[in-house]
Amino acid sequence: MTSPAGRADDLHERVRTCLLCPLARTRGHAVPGEGPLNAEFMFIGEAPGQNEDRQGRPFVGAAGQFLEELLAAAGLRRSEVYICNVLKCRPPNNRDPLPGEIEACRDYLDEQIDLIDPLLIITLGRFSMAKFFPNQSISRIHGHVKDTAGRFYVPMYHPAAALHQQSLRETILNDFRQLPGILERARAARKPAPQPEPAPAPAPATQARLFE
Ligand code: URA
Repeated sequence: MTSPAGRADDLHERVRTCLLCPLARTRGHAVPGEGPLNAEFMFIGEAPGQNEDRQGRPFVGAAGQFLEELLAAAGLRRSEVYICNVLKCRPPNNRDPLPGEIEACRDYLDEQIDLIDPLLIITLGRFSMAKFFPNQSISRIHGHVKDTAGRFYVPMYHPAAALHQQSLRETILNDFRQLPGILERARAARKPAPQPEPAPAPAPATQARLFE
């Protein structure tokens, strides 16, 4: 049985050398994702931008800096969460991901979710939201928790949206501040239910008869 680290190395290597869609021809570096394999939190963004494409790491530009601020508001450090994207390669000029690109990358993201098995998945922006909350609008459901099969999902605005629209800054900060409480609920939901105490064994019949 392959270890989690071995599975992650194999997955990252397949992402780095992926030829499944035309973005392979325009990318600098594919960006598999990063973070501890036993992370309780998984953050899923949209796609690498210019800085990420240069460095091969997720969220290392301006949006990444703001993401770290948001994590700090939730009492979290970047080093304790897993961060990845719907697309592993940068779309030219940061255009929106195309349906065929999302489909080509889908198995990689599913493998990451299976490998990390996070308690909480936080989607950043509408493309990762659409995977778990189809046909929803981010302005209606941001910060609302969905609890499915032992995992909690929280859709959030993309940090870059708040960089472009100052009025979203407090909204997204407030949503992130809810995360510690949501984690507690997710931990309690996943904990196995306490088993009832076993009933004491009845005294053997022979012993009872001794005093008759
Ligand atoms: N925006 C994203 O969605 N992902 C990144 O990695 C960087 C910016």
